[in-house]
Amino acid sequence: MISPAPTLFDAPALLSLQRAIQDNQGSEVFFVGYVDEDSRLIRDVEAVAYGNQSMTPVLLERALTADVIIHNHPSGNLEPSAQDLQMADMLMNQAGVSFVIVDNTVTQVKIVYYAPFLSSQKQTPLKTEEILKLFGPEGAFALKLKGYEAREAQLSMLSQIVDAFNHKDLAIIEAGTGTGKSLAYLLPSLYWAHQNKEKVIITTFTKNLQQQLVDKDLPFLKDILPFSFSYAIVKGKQNYICRKRFEEAFDTLKALSHTPALFDAEDQERYRLFAAVDEWLSQTKEGDLEELAGELLRQVREDIQAQSDLCIHRRCPYFDNCYINLSRQKVFTSDLIITNHHFFLAQLSLDYADVNVRLLPLFSKIIIDEAHNFKKAALSFLQEQASFFSLNKNLGRIYSLSRKKHNGELNQLLLNLQKSQAPGARSCLEKIQDDILPYFEALREKINYFLRPLISRL
Ligand code: SF4
Repeated sequence: MISPAPTLFDAPALLSLQRAIQDNQGSEVFFVGYVDEDSRLIRDVEAVAYGNQSMTPVLLERALTADVIIHNHPSGNLEPSAQDLQMADMLMNQAGVSFVIVDNTVTQVKIVYYAPFLSSQKQTPLKTEEILKLFGPEGAFALKLKGYEAREAQLSMLSQIVDAFNHKDLAIIEAGTGTGKSLAYLLPSLYWAHQNKEKVIITTFTKNLQQQLVDKDLPFLKDILPFSFSYAIVKGKQNYICRKRFEEAFDTLKALSHTPALFDAEDQERYRLFAAVDEWLSQTKEGDLEELAGELLRQVREDIQAQSDLCIHRRCPYFDNCYINLSRQKVFTSDLIITNHHFFLAQLSLDYADVNVRLLPLFSKIIIDEAHNFKKAALSFLQEQASFFSLNKNLGRIYSLSRKKHNGELNQLLLNLQKSQAPGARSCLEKIQDDILPYFEALREKINYFLRPLISRL
């Protein structure tokens, strides 16, 4: 959220920031700051790094002894970059250090993390009456929706959620269809996020419900609430295209197309599919694979979707424009985050400090809708399992025996080496064929030997 700078800095600190940025001709300056325990304002600040020097040893060393890192964005766009988010995450998770961004005149501040708010003992409780007023005869609902009538069950549910939020309690609520439960939990969640500057997560089992919240309920509330708020859907990485995987595979096909003897019908069909994805890529803003037409998606998904274990993070040439990072940026700066049970549980089972795989920011409250499915989803994530199919699928991603020669990474490498004129390519090819392929074949045989008999018993 973006706030006026005086809500976070005391006057001398504001002045010091402005002077240091001015002295540096408006270029980037990184400061460490210290928070006053009573006022929760940042009182002392000190410039410790200049220019595009984030993650320098001196800054990291000083950051670990400070309460907050502050830096300016000379462009005036206060949205955190992928690099900012990575640094903010690491500092918050590993040292509890907050991270904020200011503009060059230090009039506005973007809070990425602010621990004094996150762990505040002084949370502002919600006022049930204030929210219920929206439902009264003169309230926003009646004014906006002709003939609107408040439902008793909805108001009772809302009050129970307000109580649970205020008292850090757990509320288990069963509400029948037509209760208006989405609004009953969205309102306390939004008021909480707004008043306490804490993120609230809503998790659902079905995509339909997520879509209803995002397409219908939240835009409606944006119209009637007396404050602004932001929200985002967070999805697993595999829902996005990996630019690197796509570009590399497409480049290989393009190179192959110059050698007609090697460019067979299967390659040509694959080329056609990749060209269609390339066209979509030039238009998409989100990189969400669901935007692709069903049949096209079915045929290319495996080859172009982002995969945690294949991502090389900062070493990737597309890192700053990676769709996952863009989505992460949006999620980390939203007040309300909508997700699904599977993704939420998958994130819980991760090492929370691993900033490369974590897509959920720190949050304060959670609403679990469609909770009757939560147990089923939890079981599938909080247990370890291996299956004949998943082992073979993963093996196939490395080296595939399928007729489709492009399927595995190793198959791809073999193809490239066969075509290559580079010195050493032939010996490398022989090494793979003699030493590595037999290893994969033996592994596949072992999986078959141990697991096939089990399958036949099912
Ligand atoms: S950062 Fe990772 S997921 Fe994103 S494009 Fe690069 S390799 Fe793919």
